Amino acid sequence: MSLVIGLTGGIASGKSTVSNMFKEMGITVIDADIEARLAVEKGEPAYNKIIESFGSDILLSNKEIDRQKLGLIIFHHEEKRQLLNEIVHPEVRKRMRQQMEAAVSKQEQIVVLDIPLLFESKLTYMVEKTILVYVDREVQLQRLMERNHLTIDEAEARIHSQMPLAEKVTLADAVLNNNGTPFETKTQLLDVLAKWEVNL
Ligand code: ADP
Repeated sequence: MSLVIGLTGGIASGKSTVSNMFKEMGITVIDADIEARLAVEKGEPAYNKIIESFGSDILLSNKEIDRQKLGLIIFHHEEKRQLLNEIVHPEVRKRMRQQMEAAVSKQEQIVVLDIPLLFESKLTYMVEKTILVYVDREVQLQRLMERNHLTIDEAEARIHSQMPLAEKVTLADAVLNNNGTPFETKTQLLDVLAKWEVNL
């Protein structure tokens, strides 16, 4: 049986960095953000449902969904955000489950589900173990400002809108402290996998 791991973090905590470490080890990583984009492409089941609910005004000239426009609508209307989630989330879960099953059937030792909102969206039931990529708030702020070219106020607002990493620490099976170098984080990752008896 494959071990299904849920990987999560907070904005700029280093989740993508750790996700790449898994990929470099040849481990299948299923990315929830990518699946969410693919799930609303023209011809997918969610595509028609979104047009039925939000109207064809949210289409671009090439008939793809204008994700920016949709984003703006749901940012201002909570009930529309919920409606969109009700359409998209089951499709994203279905897509992730299909890929997970493909990896399991190939008898891969581990499969990683990279899910930014793993705890907030209560998706832990999909995985057996959870890994949180943690950084201190100051490090998070600094790395976010640098990566996204944000002012301190903009970066603080983004961090503040999320569940605090300190709270996620209490929910995760394993925590990787990413305050140090990527090498130090990789060492912690290998330790966790060894503890879970994954032979790479
Ligand atoms: P996330 O996917 O959680 O938003 P990223 O993996 O993109 O975070 O990391 C955020 C930023 O911090 C990126 O610019 C990345 O290159 C950098 N970074 C990540 N881990 C480290 C580290 N251990 N040391 C220095 N910089 C890092």
